[in-house]
Amino acid sequence: MNHIKGTTSLSGLIGYPVKHSKSPQMHNTAFEALGLDYVYLAFEVQEGNLKKAVEAMKTLNAIGFNVTMPYKTKVLEYLDDISEEARIIGSVNTVKNENGRLIGYNTDGIGFIKSLEEKGVNYVGEKIVIVGAGGAARAIATQLAFDGVAEIVLFNRTLSKAEEIVKSINMNISTCRSRALGMDESVLRKEIEDAAILINCTSIGMWPEIDKSIISSPEILHKDLFIADIIYEPNKTKLLKFAEKAGCKYMNGLMMVIWQGALAFKIWTGKDMPVDLIKKAVFEK
Ligand code: NAP
Repeated sequence: MNHIKGTTSLSGLIGYPVKHSKSPQMHNTAFEALGLDYVYLAFEVQEGNLKKAVEAMKTLNAIGFNVTMPYKTKVLEYLDDISEEARIIGSVNTVKNENGRLIGYNTDGIGFIKSLEEKGVNYVGEKIVIVGAGGAARAIATQLAFDGVAEIVLFNRTLSKAEEIVKSINMNISTCRSRALGMDESVLRKEIEDAAILINCTSIGMWPEIDKSIISSPEILHKDLFIADIIYEPNKTKLLKFAEKAGCKYMNGLMMVIWQGALAFKIWTGKDMPVDLIKKAVFEK
């Protein structure tokens, strides 16, 4: 951080907790690599202080900032404008300061799609099955619908949460049909028969509960199905081990987290984040 000078501009992360976040390392490494005069800090903001924190970023002339849990939805109230995707997703993870106007974006879904495209997986016109209906599922499902997926089936333990996402997609994106179902492995098995991609958007299988999976055996998978698990700790979840056994192609959530950061970086700086460098320097160390 010895590049900080009187001219250095601020960016950062607002959330609670944030001390575990890899975003400061990602962005500062990228700023340094590209010789950009910016710094990125993580700010732990207590409940009730969000408005003040957002105003402070504006007052301090920050170039922009990321927003994480638990403020991704609440922050909408304090922004001047939001992208159409972020409005339908209902949450913002990236804010750009455009001459004192704060504009909100959501890069989680696009980050997931970039990681899918890197793997050469086609999703346009396809049927996609998603398990989970939390914040990440909502961003991914909405973005996939925007970007040309024909059909999305959402499974979730709490059916009403999946129904809410489906309602929003069906209301706003006429080119995609979407359905919600409760968690049931035999129904899931039927739905993935003609699907191209199965995505785990739950926290099932995440460290330390690495012996858990959204499915009980590899038998229900077929080898033409691409399996995406957005978890990246561990880097091969039990679901991905099942995918390997079933002969499926698969990916974890590492490139999604890098791409959501890279897209925020581009929004603030107009420059491409050196993603290979970030992967090596921040995540594979
Ligand atoms: P969230 O909003 O809290 O949603 C959690 C989801 O997991 C809900 O659908 C929840 O179901 C389901 N779930 C949790 N425990 C379950 C259990 N025991 N049985 C059945 N369902 C269960 O979280 P999120 O932000 O969407 O994140 C979800 C996962 O994605 C996390 O592991 C997170 O680390 C990962 N993630 C990765 C990236 C990336 O960039 N790679 C980005 C964001 C998130 P209910 O609705 O029934 O509670």
